[in-house]
Amino acid sequence: MESIRKKDIINKAGKIIIKIGSSTVVDEHGQIDVEFLRNLSAQCKKLMDDGKKIIIVTSGARMSGVGSINKWSRKEDMNYKQALCAIGQVALMGEYRRIFLEEDLHIAQILLTKDDMIDDNRNLHIRNTLFTLIDEDVIPVINENDTVCVEEIKIGDNDMLAARVGTLWAADLVIILTDIEGIYDKNPKEHQDAKLLEYVEDVEDIGDIESFEAEEGEKGRFGTGGITTKIEAAKLLSQYGCSLAITEGKHSSTAILDIFEDKVKYTLIRGEIE
Ligand code: ADP
Repeated sequence: MESIRKKDIINKAGKIIIKIGSSTVVDEHGQIDVEFLRNLSAQCKKLMDDGKKIIIVTSGARMSGVGSINKWSRKEDMNYKQALCAIGQVALMGEYRRIFLEEDLHIAQILLTKDDMIDDNRNLHIRNTLFTLIDEDVIPVINENDTVCVEEIKIGDNDMLAARVGTLWAADLVIILTDIEGIYDKNPKEHQDAKLLEYVEDVEDIGDIESFEAEEGEKGRFGTGGITTKIEAAKLLSQYGCSLAITEGKHSSTAILDIFEDKVKYTLIRGEIE
């Protein structure tokens, strides 16, 4: 029954956001994973050929900055972190552009801050640009504008950025590609008996985010949000009728298509409105 509901939600989704975690696209030395991007572009091509519309939200700028300039990886000062993001963003987009072109796909970079989302006028312009790109089959590749972002104006992490873009675009489905195959009832790296939540009908059923935070312990070295931000993203999205899928994206060359073909285990959190 659950599996039928899952398939139904996934198959109906026409407007899809794919969010890529930083450790999925960049390795621990800051090298961009070209093979991953090739697989991603081939899957985007297939989905678009099937009539789906796609937006990508990508992390990885800071790590790819470390890989580009080969220094400052340990500097904690905000200005150095932002400088690394500025350097790495170009490198990252360069690779996205080069590799997606191999599939004849054009990409466009959009960098956003929280203010852009709140301000009506800016919001309208973002929407118009996004809709134009998507109508013309160009894939918007979105990231937070780290150069102008200090804590107060940050959306916070790209799980939440993907959710906000999801509400702005009225997406049907956000797919988060990360280093784990979904949300477990407790951190599987610490508890062997952790169970994967395969289908969540109502995000409130997941329970208290604090209990996940307490369980979370040390976060992934390059991941910023952990699992709690993914649940927060689902909470926002579900109010707008947008569902959220979370799956392991690095070691499978077909992670996204596998969701559509129901060939993989993953978490699906249903959006409220049918
Ligand atoms: P990304 O950078 O892709 O957003 P994160 O590293 O921020 O990924 O978050 C994923 C990590 O969250 C997992 O690798 C896992 O170690 C941790 N985690 C903590 N609690 C859970 C849980 N209950 N279920 C799944 N993962 C969890």
